[in-house]
Amino acid sequence: MPDRLVSLANHPLTRPLVRGLGLPQPARLARSTQPYRPLELQGRSVLVAAVPAAGLAETVRRAVVRLGGVLEHLGCVQAVIVDATGCSAVDQLRELYDLLHPALGRLDAHGRVLLLADGEGDGAEAAACARAVEGLTRSLAKEIGRHGATANALRIRGAWPQGLDAALSFFCTDRSAFVSGQVLDLRSPTPEVERIAQPAFHGRVAVVTGAAGAIGAATARRLAQDGASVACVDVPSSAGRLAALAEELGGQALPLDLTVPEASARLGEFARGLGGIDILVHNAGITRDRTLAKMSGREWDSVLDVNLRAVLAIDAALDRGGAMKPAAREICLASISGIAGNAGQANYAASKAALIGYTAARARELAPRGGTANAVAPGFIETEMTRRIPWMLRQVGRRLNALQQGGLPEDVAEAIAFLARSDAQAVTGQTLRVCGQSFLGA
Ligand code: NAD
Repeated sequence: MPDRLVSLANHPLTRPLVRGLGLPQPARLARSTQPYRPLELQGRSVLVAAVPAAGLAETVRRAVVRLGGVLEHLGCVQAVIVDATGCSAVDQLRELYDLLHPALGRLDAHGRVLLLADGEGDGAEAAACARAVEGLTRSLAKEIGRHGATANALRIRGAWPQGLDAALSFFCTDRSAFVSGQVLDLRSPTPEVERIAQPAFHGRVAVVTGAAGAIGAATARRLAQDGASVACVDVPSSAGRLAALAEELGGQALPLDLTVPEASARLGEFARGLGGIDILVHNAGITRDRTLAKMSGREWDSVLDVNLRAVLAIDAALDRGGAMKPAAREICLASISGIAGNAGQANYAASKAALIGYTAARARELAPRGGTANAVAPGFIETEMTRRIPWMLRQVGRRLNALQQGGLPEDVAEAIAFLARSDAQAVTGQTLRVCGQSFLGA
């Protein structure tokens, strides 16, 4: 069901009424539906500013130009990137304020703010300042969110990592429409990332579980749109939808209940038949909501079996069979419930929190071969799952974030596509929330 309030708040005839009633006025978000372009920032005006101690501004400017962006010194801009690395004393935070304060007046509605901060900082004051940048980012995100704008930060860890193009292409464009208030690490990858100028997925094999569902189907479409050959996996009862999707995408369908004992072996065999997996999206998931006191053992088990046990079993089978290609990208669907917890979802939250922990460890396993593992934690996404929530609760759920609306499955798919890029090797072991900066577990 579409979010009526977004339509009403953005229509000239009904906008005054929405305002007069004191209702939230969510902006209509600008979203990209295009395949990746080598010049993702083409035509976008970008202001790159830096505190005096920062050392990355020139690198960032070169990256912006390389991606087709236009460096803007005067007038309105669609993105503001502030290099706050080297900001290690409280006085330097004031320099950051001095840069950002005037820049905000030049930011378009739907604009993007991206701050670069140090990983830890050298010494206690530097560590404090690095964290200050994060606090500033999260607050700014909440202030500009109602206009549809976002603010995020990148923590630079180690020597200058190579994930900059991928990160700018995501955080400074409409691809990150529902991602705000997030802080992501960019690490120096080991081994050295293969430099691929073309971010698309041509020639790469992707497997998406739960592909008959809302987010799974959007993800399969997104990866296929950029050239991946996609295998769609879901329960046998959805075989019809699965076959239709696979046919639409020119991919393959594998109807398979991931909880049956032979599932992981069958998926491993299937993967070998595909010639190995480049992108694996563990998306299948279920909820069986009830308070813990009333929850049956069966309800606990069924959620843990699909959401967690199947993921571990599949990965073990793929590893045993050597079916994960070097430099593979693995993405697990977590949830903000796994971060904040949610009454009535102890089983679900446990499984999703477990995936966050698992992903961090899995990243270390895949790293020696150039692979990455990350989790994506959606917030309130407009799907069948959230359509079933009673009306009043649904309204509240939608508004409890800085953008005052629910996200779309395509927003989650876009975040997954970002993490799946070959040139996103610097992002690993992390959890990227796609939640409009949900107020839960911020
Ligand atoms: P969905 O119910 O539309 O899709 C989930 C898919 O998983 C379904 O097609 C289902 O058949 C499949 N599946 C379930 N059990 C399976 C099994 N045993 N074997 C194979 N496939 C199985 O849900 P969605 O909203 O698209 O969610 C996708 C993922 O995102 C889930 O992991 C969910 O927990 C997570 N998530 C969703 C939201 C949201 O707001 N919709 C929020 C946070 C996290």
